[in-house]
Amino acid sequence: MQHTNNQGKKLLPKVAYFCMEYGLHESLPLYAGGLGILAGDYLKSARDLNLPVIGIGILWRQDYTEQFIDLEGQPYDVYPTYNFDFLEDTDVYTQVNIAGEEVRLKIWHTNRHGNASLYLLDAGRPAMKHGNITARLYGGGPQERIAQEIILGIGGVRALRALGVEVDLYHFNEGHAVLAGLELIREKIEEQGLSFEEAWEETRQQVVFTTHTPVEAGNEKHSHHLLFQLGANNGLSYEQLVRLGGDPFNMTAAALRLSSLSNGVSEMHGKTARKMWNHISEKSPIISITNGVHAPTWQAPEIARAYETGGDLWQAHMEQKKELINFVQEKTGAQMNPDALLVGFARRAAAYKRSDLIFRNTSVIGPVIEEGKLQLIFSGKAHPDDDLGKSIIKDLVKMDRQYKDRVVFLENYNMEIARKIVRGCDVWLNNPCRPLEASGTSGMKAALNGVLNLSVLDGWVGEGLKHRVCGWLLDEHIPEDLQEADEDERDLHALYQILLEEVIPTFYNKREKWVEMMKASIEMAQSKFTSDRMLKEYYERMYLKVFREKILATK
Ligand SMILES: *Cc1c(COP(=O)(O)O)cnc(C)c1O
Repeated sequence: MQHTNNQGKKLLPKVAYFCMEYGLHESLPLYAGGLGILAGDYLKSARDLNLPVIGIGILWRQDYTEQFIDLEGQPYDVYPTYNFDFLEDTDVYTQVNIAGEEVRLKIWHTNRHGNASLYLLDAGRPAMKHGNITARLYGGGPQERIAQEIILGIGGVRALRALGVEVDLYHFNEGHAVLAGLELIREKIEEQGLSFEEAWEETRQQVVFTTHTPVEAGNEKHSHHLLFQLGANNGLSYEQLVRLGGDPFNMTAAALRLSSLSNGVSEMHGKTARKMWNHISEKSPIISITNGVHAPTWQAPEIARAYETGGDLWQAHMEQKKELINFVQEKTGAQMNPDALLVGFARRAAAYKRSDLIFRNTSVIGPVIEEGKLQLIFSGKAHPDDDLGKSIIKDLVKMDRQYKDRVVFLENYNMEIARKIVRGCDVWLNNPCRPLEASGTSGMKAALNGVLNLSVLDGWVGEGLKHRVCGWLLDEHIPEDLQEADEDERDLHALYQILLEEVIPTFYNKREKWVEMMKASIEMAQSKFTSDRMLKEYYERMYLKVFREKILATK
């Protein structure tokens, strides 16, 4: 896309994208999970497409967690600090006020991972006076979280001013960034003499918002008492804050009220979000822009080449599979069989993702594993304070120890592990409770590599995955007599049936059909689920739309 037309008139608005986490590469551990990976892929596609986007984030000095497994099979966390010398020092600082104290923020810059400019705010080393605030992503309680959100939101807008970067639109990726809206309002009141009402309306015309949370309880809320204590109100009154976010202050509700257009991250999630926020979103309609993944990051070049040139796709796949199996052997000592079916599942350990579903009836699945017809690789981290998540991991580790060489759990899930498994498995399993997976992106990465999705109908899946064409849908296999059973029981039944009657026979006996499905899978992912497509949609359906309306409003 061109940025200016022949008269030098600006065509594309410049966007500042605010996000708490960025997953650009495993060597820059500023991410916890899908939200961060999405933000990283977003910045990479912005760069590839030469779009005028910059990212605003926080330099977390410690890893979110490096999570290992002890001898009892229990996950434990360590938080190493990193040497971030490779970041560029902008030599620019800004500051925010937190609980009455001025906190000075250093601004770093990086674009070394093929990403559009990312500016990272830094309160210093953890041992420094305020350094603990930006020590660790999603660490600590509500006070720390609010302090971090002051830095991302208020500090983020001030960083743009300090750097002299002019932007047209502010994109809040998830509600964490919402205090940026309060800073935009404050600027307009103090610097342009606008009333609160006028400042709010002008701010709305500059802001778009993406929600990622399909459950009401998952939306972050804060007490006004704490917000005022920490100075997060940024000069606004209690009444004004309540008008934006209610009481308690709901970050998602406030983000909707501070933006003029919002989106959910898949068609299904858009619908869920519209239902959920129906009472708030009349001024900020919620559309759907489905997530996508950065193909050059996630797709093996050998797979891309074999697909493009009509080469031997199976051969290219086997190379990826062997690489994964070697990696597993180095990490764990387990010796998996490259000729046996390999099913992968790597995700954050959240109960709704049901990583243990496949083991619910070991009298069915146990013998298939023992026979050597089915191998499974798992990986995932639980949030350090999430005991339920850790017990899920512990159960998976138990399976790893029970079915030696056949079931493997890889500790310390990160982008490197993700890249290896989405390339090297044969099948990618996805069985969350519906409709809790807003989009999901690991299945897109797998599909790009010809790894076939075996999935429930949730998130992105309904927009591309055709049953028996490029994967399998559990929802196509719910028998009449189980219509009334609970979701776990129905899905378990469908999972076993498809696995035993379709996936395994096709894998071992119908290689041609399998390779046809691999091709269909790559075709689906390349045409529908790349972050290039996503970026174009953000420009065409959100940024340009809001930008034009803003220009009309100021004329
Ligand atoms: C892709 C990715 C995720 C997100 O996967 P989902 O399927 O959306 O849960 C999380 N963590 C890492 C390291 C990833 O690469």
